[in-house]
Amino acid sequence: MADTPALELRSVHQVYGFGASATHALDDVHLTVPAGRFVSLIGPSGCGKSTLLRLVAGLEEPDAGVVRVHGVPPQQACAAKMIGLVPQSPALLPWLSVLRNVTLPQKINKGAGRRRERIVADTGPSAAPSVSDMRELLVKAGLGEAVHKLPAQLSGGMRQRAAIVRAFGLRPDVLVMDEPFSALDEFTRESLQDQLLDLWDELRTTVLFVTHSVSEAVRLSDTVVVMAPRPGRIVDTIEIDLPRPRNERLFRERRFHAYEDLVRDRLRRAWHGAAA
Ligand code: ADP
Repeated sequence: MADTPALELRSVHQVYGFGASATHALDDVHLTVPAGRFVSLIGPSGCGKSTLLRLVAGLEEPDAGVVRVHGVPPQQACAAKMIGLVPQSPALLPWLSVLRNVTLPQKINKGAGRRRERIVADTGPSAAPSVSDMRELLVKAGLGEAVHKLPAQLSGGMRQRAAIVRAFGLRPDVLVMDEPFSALDEFTRESLQDQLLDLWDELRTTVLFVTHSVSEAVRLSDTVVVMAPRPGRIVDTIEIDLPRPRNERLFRERRFHAYEDLVRDRLRRAWHGAAA
């Protein structure tokens, strides 16, 4: 089963509404993501990014086509706690400390580990982390001083960091992130990108990441998937062949900016195609 992709979408169509007013949110979408890759989706509003995420996260079923997570339907992968979701704004429970917020999910569904073992043979990354593992992840994410604080006592960036630690801490096989940094200022955003890459380097979770930022997509990703609207579809898949770790020095290099220009050019075409 080692060759089973982490994510697979085949001939996926999703239509909302009927007749002349129907919206083709996704039209014949094919996407294969091998395990451990960091893939970003980028494209103008309405091109189906959120729809694609909802299908992968098992929150909706496609009207046609096949969606598989490690070879099984997303609902089955969700029941085995193989999928983690980081939404745009961090949904932390306000009455629990940061540490209790990030350790709560693994206490809730204890049968998930066995269900996962039936789907993926190697149990490596999903071995349940202990409270001290989670504390260590919080320290790595710069939240060492905040473990016993309530969410209301933290800044927006710190809350989002806690939400990311919580998602990674569950050791999901696939982590789905819907513009997790969009509400943050640029400086905080860059520092969270650093921390996200550090965690990802260590845990090698497969990540599907939605962003509107070209430089964020290039910096983080192995693959950038460019989408276009009306109908929502994939128009380009760009492999980002840059070394890791991707630190500040790389941002000053010409090849980093060449990738930014390439993605920007493909996005422009997606816009113009949409407007035509
Ligand atoms: P994006 O995330 O790229 O902005 P979405 O996936 O949210 O795009 O939406 C794709 C298209 O499908 C848009 O035209 C949107 O209005 C439409 N759409 C999405 N969800 C629904 C829904 N639940 N009901 C009706 N239309 C929807």
